[in-house]
Formats: sequence, structure tokens, C-alpha cells
Amino acid sequence: MGGKFVWTGNSFPAGDFSLRNIDKSRYKLINKENAKEITEMDEMQAFREIHNGAIYMHGGIQYQVIKLDLESKTAFAILFNGNYYTMPGGSTNIRIIQGSKDMDYKRVKVAFGDVNVDEIVYMYKKLQFHNHQNLGFQQLEKPLSKDYDTESTWIKIPDNVVKVYRKMLKESPSGKILRNNHFEGLCYVIKNVAMMTTMTEREDIGATMSNSAIEINENFMDDVYMFIYDKYIGGLGYAEKVFDLISQIIDDAIKLVGGCKCESGCAACIGDYKLDKGMILWGLKNLVEEIKAPKDIKIVEYAPSTFIEKPFQFGMLQEKWKDFCKYIQENGDSFATFLSTITEVEIDNHILTLVLHNAFYKEWVMEESNKRSLRNIIVFNTDAPEGFELKIRLEETSDDVAKVKSKLQRRYENLVE
Ligand SMILES: [Zn+2]
Repeated sequence: MGGKFVWTGNSFPAGDFSLRNIDKSRYKLINKENAKEITEMDEMQAFREIHNGAIYMHGGIQYQVIKLDLESKTAFAILFNGNYYTMPGGSTNIRIIQGSKDMDYKRVKVAFGDVNVDEIVYMYKKLQFHNHQNLGFQQLEKPLSKDYDTESTWIKIPDNVVKVYRKMLKESPSGKILRNNHFEGLCYVIKNVAMMTTMTEREDIGATMSNSAIEINENFMDDVYMFIYDKYIGGLGYAEKVFDLISQIIDDAIKLVGGCKCESGCAACIGDYKLDKGMILWGLKNLVEEIKAPKDIKIVEYAPSTFIEKPFQFGMLQEKWKDFCKYIQENGDSFATFLSTITEVEIDNHILTLVLHNAFYKEWVMEESNKRSLRNIIVFNTDAPEGFELKIRLEETSDDVAKVKSKLQRRYENLVE
């Protein structure tokens, strides 16, 4: 039996691996409050799910990740009871290493081979629980990037589709987020159908466009490809199945979008991207036959998005403390309630002093883990300078002093009686 064996992964296959856990870099998630391990996962999943600020659900309990330490491959989380969840945002860059087979299917060229996938997470979205309303984007201090070699099938998207979809792209006012990206809708449908056809899960395969897709310049000449790839180092054979079944996948995708009962796109068909469902269907149909673009292309208008780099300036905390507390309370940070009880803070260069009126709180704050969590909240939500210090000043109000005095007085009286 003639066949070729090619190992394309970065890491050498060890004897004891489970296929799904082929990545040897394991990350631990630790509950900071009791130092117990919550779960562990591979590096890719860690970058997507337990980056700084991520809300992670495990065993029905929500945690907020306050620190992902890459060196020790450990993330620390605290209990969370806010009303939002997070979704990682970033980009995937794919480079073809070598194709091993290709074929034509109606209007498209389909190929299969080895690729290098570079997944970058550089921000995350906060979404409200009950209505999925977008509460804003938060940028990570450092992008998390992971690249690996795997297998992929790729389809060249016909030029007429590329041209029209590019025309429909819109840049957000900040220039950072591309709106109305119908290439994304195309990937969403194909991935959905590919998952059904190959009986895989969302985490098993990915579908993404080559970067050349979103080149706004219409005359950009590079070919545009859609990649459907295995999300495992070396590949597990799913992408190859996609190659073998591509005609069925494309036909099913057309049937799925054409037959979906939703009005203007839903999670079952083109995803929730506020895209024009008719234009996605048009794009899919063009993979099999050339159809002219409809004349009245609907372009959705968007409300300007909120892109939070750092919502507060460290130097302004003294003046803006109340707003700051309100903000973190609305965002559901677990320490927000405590911080809101503090009415006064002082900023002196890199030192933030919390003015407390209660000795009990002082002890609580000085406890190392609490202090660190508070620091993290400040670092996370402000442009706090590196190595900033958190200090506590206990200031007894005249009320407090009077109380203590009368307490002592009573004790003294009890003694002498
Ligand atoms: Zn639908």
C-alpha cells in the first residue's frame, strides 16, 4: 500500500498524547481566593478563554481572570457575579506551506495541503447576558499569539464576489474594526455546514479568509481564499474530509441560507453579524454559477462602537473616583462594592492611597490577595504606571473617635464597678 507520511507539526509526537490534547503546553486556571485549581487547558484555548479580564464559566460558576501569567502558564481568577460575558477578538493569519492536491468544482478551485495558522487575540468584547448587548471592547496590554502548522482546504473566491464584498466593507470611525464584512458571513455558513458534514465541533475546525479579502483598495490584485482548517497541530483529517465533500458542503450551504426562516440572518445561517442575508446567498451561489450582483445593495448603518483602550486616567482618579467606582460597578467587577464604600482617594505620582475610616477594612485590604486584586482592577481600568503602589491611610472621623472613647469609657466603668 503506497502512501506518504508527513509530520508537519512543530512538536514531536509523544507516546502518551490524546489527539485532542496534542499541544503539550498546558495552562492552569487557579482560584486566587483558595489557591485551588479550577481547570487546565492547552495554550490556544487559554489565549482565547482565560486572557486577562476574561469571564470564564466552570461548573456553573463564573470567574473573572485577573492575571494570565505566560511564564508559569498559570491564570488566576476570582469569583465573578457581574452580568456580562466576554468574547475574544483578534485575527487569524494563514500562510500556505504547500498544497498536496487540488481540483475544480464549477466556478472554484479547491486545494488541500499544509498551512501555518497564526491566531492572535488582541482584544475582547464584553456582552451583556440577557440581551447580548455589546458593552464595549477592551484591548489586551499585550496581544497573545500562537502559531501552529496544520492541514487546510482552501477555496479561491471568485473575483466578482470579492469585488462586490470589498465595496460593501466599512471601517468604524476608530479605523480599528471593519464593519459589514460579508466575507465573515460566508465563512460562518461554510463552517456551520462543514461541521455538520464532517461531524465536528466548533473547536475542531476553523474557517477564515485570507487577509487579502479585506484590502479596501478595489484594485488589489491578490487572490482571496477561504481556508477551512483543523484547529489541531498537525491536523486530524477534518480539513481533508472537507476537501472530499466540498461539492456537498457548498450545495448544502446554499440550501441552508436560502431555506432559513429567519428574516435577516441568524446564528443558524449567516451568524449575527448584521449582514445582508441576500448578499451572502448571492456569494454562495456564485461559487457554482456566475450571477450578477443585485443593484440595490443594502448597506447597514451602525451606531459608533465604543472602543475602550483604558477607560480612566490614573492621574485623574482623585477627581474621578466616583465615576470610576460607578464604572467598575456597572461592569460587574467583584471588588466594586467595596471600592464604592471609599469616598476619598489620593494620587501622588505613582502612589494611590485609599482613605479608609474603618480599621476592619484596612486589615482586609492589606491581606495580600485582596490587595493584589484591587491593584489589578486599577491596572486593568486605568493607565496606571508600571509598578504603581497601593497604600492605605486610616483616618478616623471625629465620630469614630467619639465611639471608641465611649466604648473605652464603658469598659472602664465596668471594671471599676
Ligand atoms: Zn437564519
